[in-house]
Amino acid sequence: MQTSATSFDQLRGRLIVSCQAFETSPFREPASMARFALAAVQGGARGIRANGPDDIRAIREAVDVPIVGLWKEKQPDGEILITPTLEGARELVEAGAGLIALDCTARGQKYGALGRLRRIRKELGVPVLADIATIEEAVQAAEAGADAVLSTLRGYTPETRHVTRFEPSFIADLVRVLRIPVIAEGRIDTAHQIWEALDAGAFAVIIGAAITRPEVITQKFVSAVDGWDRSLDPKRTFIGIDLGGSCTKSGLVTNQGELLWQSAASTPWNSGREALLEHLERCVAACIGAARDRGIEPQAIGLATAGWVDPSSGEVVYATENLPEWTGANPAAFLGKVFGLPVAVENDANALAVAEKHFGAAKDASDFVCITLGTGVGGGVYIGGRLNRGRHFFANALGHIPIVPDGEPCTCGQSGCLEPYANASALMRYGHGNYKSCEEIVAAANSGDSNAQGAIRVFARYLAIGCAAHVNLFDPEILILGGGLAQNNPLLISALTEELAKRVIVWPQRHLRVQASALGYAAGVLGAAAVASLSA
Ligand SMILES: [Zn+2]
Repeated sequence: MQTSATSFDQLRGRLIVSCQAFETSPFREPASMARFALAAVQGGARGIRANGPDDIRAIREAVDVPIVGLWKEKQPDGEILITPTLEGARELVEAGAGLIALDCTARGQKYGALGRLRRIRKELGVPVLADIATIEEAVQAAEAGADAVLSTLRGYTPETRHVTRFEPSFIADLVRVLRIPVIAEGRIDTAHQIWEALDAGAFAVIIGAAITRPEVITQKFVSAVDGWDRSLDPKRTFIGIDLGGSCTKSGLVTNQGELLWQSAASTPWNSGREALLEHLERCVAACIGAARDRGIEPQAIGLATAGWVDPSSGEVVYATENLPEWTGANPAAFLGKVFGLPVAVENDANALAVAEKHFGAAKDASDFVCITLGTGVGGGVYIGGRLNRGRHFFANALGHIPIVPDGEPCTCGQSGCLEPYANASALMRYGHGNYKSCEEIVAAANSGDSNAQGAIRVFARYLAIGCAAHVNLFDPEILILGGGLAQNNPLLISALTEELAKRVIVWPQRHLRVQASALGYAAGVLGAAAVASLSA
């Protein structure tokens, strides 16, 4: 048997593979676990985590890397505890475990974990690794003499049940607080997460289910297959809500992008968060009513909102004063609770890009830019087939690309952004007060009015300066113009294309298509529904 110090040092910066099987698994016997361990070591794993003396004995014969031993035993309260007795730990060591894992959560401590921890170290002479779920438990285990802590039980105790994903920030917090090594374990199933764990300061990483539980791996692929199957069902219907600064549009949309019903209401934008949530509740209730009238059960709710959104939590990370108090709101949690349906939330410009990808001009495109021209200028970008959100969800602020030094003031507080040169008030400015509305300018240009055409050309020139940045940066296949100003405006498309040709490098080789969105008035509703369809 190796000395404990060697066992432990060998694991630094390495991968440990947990070889355990469920009671019902066809692999639930020691010879299978030994084969998994051997395969893991052949693949480069430098340590094995395993359960019970029988498995450990078989694994010890098959491989010579350190084994983290544990013993899962049911307690009188019906719950499993990891290594609940000193005698059990002794059997694990005798079977070949060089390190012992111990449940040191609050519940484990009720069963005497910390006393056992000290006795295992003293009497058995092996390092003890504390399986914990919170910082407090980790500190208590470290004070009791644990040689390392493992994040294994995070998300599996009553206090941490809300955690459903691997949290690199939890590893970083542990590393900051503790002087002993922290080993990352639990819900890690990608190479990226391994990097996140090591970046956060993890001493080593343990992977289990993603390598040694074929049932779990199969389930993941089966749900992808089922999801594809469901996604083709033309009868699946989603609720799409497009929350704008002045108007909220709602609708029922099928999987194929057919709008079955729609409605619009003014947004109580200045009444605060509660009023906005109640407003959304009424909009969704109206959609559900309309669905019931048609004998339809909607599958999910999609919300496209002004402001930036964390799509994984549904929280509005930041919204401008166009929607006061909207920053920090969580419409996904609120609507999910009220209606009991999955809710997906997305930034409104991103949702338009999703609509173009699902139902519009970008169906077959992997790289494209959507720019929306209206009161504001927004953007949505797909790169390599994925919606680009950015690290803090603030990506694609295309309207705020600076194009004129010390230029027109912008709503964002800067000056010279694209937005004040390519929004509705800019077009009115270029019309020199001769027209009552942007629609009038576009209609006049279409019927040959040279002043109106001049206004659109000036608009196109500024827009091209901003768009040239996107095109040079992202090399898209298509540039899609959405929003009111792009509708029925062929001159804008041709003038913009001409201007871009002057400003984009290697223009002839790009074959960039510049076109108006064909999704029309309900594009935001379609986008919200498409976002919902991805979540259900
Ligand atoms: Zn700006």
